[in-house]
Amino acid sequence: MLSTMQDAQLSLADLLRHGTTVHSESEVLTWTGSESRRTTFGEIGKRSARLANALRGLGVDGDQRVGTFMWNNAEHLEAYLAIPAMGAVLHTLNIRLFPEQLVFVANHAEDHAIIVDGTLVPLLAKQLPEMKTVKHVIVANGDASTLQAPDSIQVHSYEDLLAAQSETFDWPVVDERSAAAMCYTSGTTGDPKGVAYSHRSIWLHSMQVCMSDSMRLSQADKSLAIVPMFHAMSWGLPYAALMVGASLVMPDRFLQPGPIAEILAAEKPTMAAAVPTIWQGLLAHLDANPQDISHVREVVVGGSAAPPAMMHAFEEQYDVPVLHAWGMTETSPLGSVARPPASVSGQEAWAYRYTQGRFPASVRARLIGDSGEEMPWDGESVGELEVQGPWIAGSYYGGESVDPEKFHEGWLRTGDVGKITPDGFLTLTDRAKDVIKSGGEWISSVDLENAVMGHPAVAEAAVIGVPDEKWDERPLVAVVVREGQNVTPAELREFLADKVAKWQLPENWAFVEEMPKTSVGKFDKKRLRAFHTEGKLD
Ligand code: ADP
Repeated sequence: MLSTMQDAQLSLADLLRHGTTVHSESEVLTWTGSESRRTTFGEIGKRSARLANALRGLGVDGDQRVGTFMWNNAEHLEAYLAIPAMGAVLHTLNIRLFPEQLVFVANHAEDHAIIVDGTLVPLLAKQLPEMKTVKHVIVANGDASTLQAPDSIQVHSYEDLLAAQSETFDWPVVDERSAAAMCYTSGTTGDPKGVAYSHRSIWLHSMQVCMSDSMRLSQADKSLAIVPMFHAMSWGLPYAALMVGASLVMPDRFLQPGPIAEILAAEKPTMAAAVPTIWQGLLAHLDANPQDISHVREVVVGGSAAPPAMMHAFEEQYDVPVLHAWGMTETSPLGSVARPPASVSGQEAWAYRYTQGRFPASVRARLIGDSGEEMPWDGESVGELEVQGPWIAGSYYGGESVDPEKFHEGWLRTGDVGKITPDGFLTLTDRAKDVIKSGGEWISSVDLENAVMGHPAVAEAAVIGVPDEKWDERPLVAVVVREGQNVTPAELREFLADKVAKWQLPENWAFVEEMPKTSVGKFDKKRLRAFHTEGKLD
């Protein structure tokens, strides 16, 4: 029997309509280096309509892709709304990709137009001649005349384009399963892989972001979205903010600890989201320049494991709880969130908070063991995590032949290795490619990193496996020492002695000035391994 319910389509046009009218007074603040540029959801709604009219005028039709090469700012939010709501597909280009990858993704997605921030024009300009499908470049927040583009590409000023347009747009009705936005991720091998989110997946994911056991976003929030809008859709914050009317604080290009501290002081956001390296940097800054940040009800950390020492420092010194979450570009990205059960407290609650978190109802998970068998959720058995759900990728853009290894019987293979408790809390011990096998036993690089980062003289630590004649592989710890501090491998080993098993104690240490990081700010273990092979970590 069919249900008697309306078959209402979940669409970003409706999200735009709702957010920019019902929550028209909610604010969007873009940091300019010394103060905020302010606008409202209402204004953003009108400018989104102008942008959609302008893009139509430039020939953007059907499901054509429009790229953004932008920081987190109000104009990027306009693109987030206008492009999907007009039926086209928003393609957020990661500004930190290597040039050849950037060219690859723009060509692969067949971007028709690209909106670029003025400060990023030099970075994009070099690659434009190789972007075969791009017909228009629109320069926001800057001077369009500075861009030298090939003859086949027309250059426009964002503000001039918008000024000539009407502030209403007849938003079309689109099938909720059609693509609204896309992001490329590194995948397992070869070229970046495109993940195309649907109107439906974004809508459902936004609801999840706002749920109280999730990120708990509400109209009372002022949310500092540090995680880039070109990285896994800023973890869904922009769309979720429109859904509930949470104000947004956008840091634009000011992502260093000093400016983030200034933004915190000036705007007093109630929540913030970023990868651990940002928070580690901020912590070091705050230690040297103390400031009250207790207005932040919670910071959300994900993208790589949140070191427990950092979680304790924020909570105990600054009265700011750190919420640990797990996800990936392929999971929209919200996969699990570590809010402990209400029945526990003290150290027991902390133990839950260190985990990658609990799966919500919409994310199904299973663990697959070495020989392909499903492992129990007993909190001990380890396997590769596979997930399923309405906002989880079922394939990559381009069809089933693109990296089929990532999909298994209708599940997404995450490449993450870990265990799950009977009450659904996930603990990751590693990424499949980072696992260290020493004398037939696994060593968790994440556990070692967390333990080393607990030492007060250590700013950052990353662990890789290096070949060893006797044990096959042994851990090597790359360490960045805090400014003005000193520590030796012997002292670090002594510090670890009561924290890890004796046979796991690393004998290989390398002190580095700066930790290599990926395009999204995670420790870049691929480069660390290359440094080691080249003898640069001895
Ligand atoms: P990339 O592969 O470019 O890093 P993503 O940003 O999509 O792409 O990263 C997803 C991966 O990040 C996950 O598969 C996982 O390995 C790691 N990750 C995300 N959140 C966490 C977390 N809380 N703890 C440990 N690892 C995490």
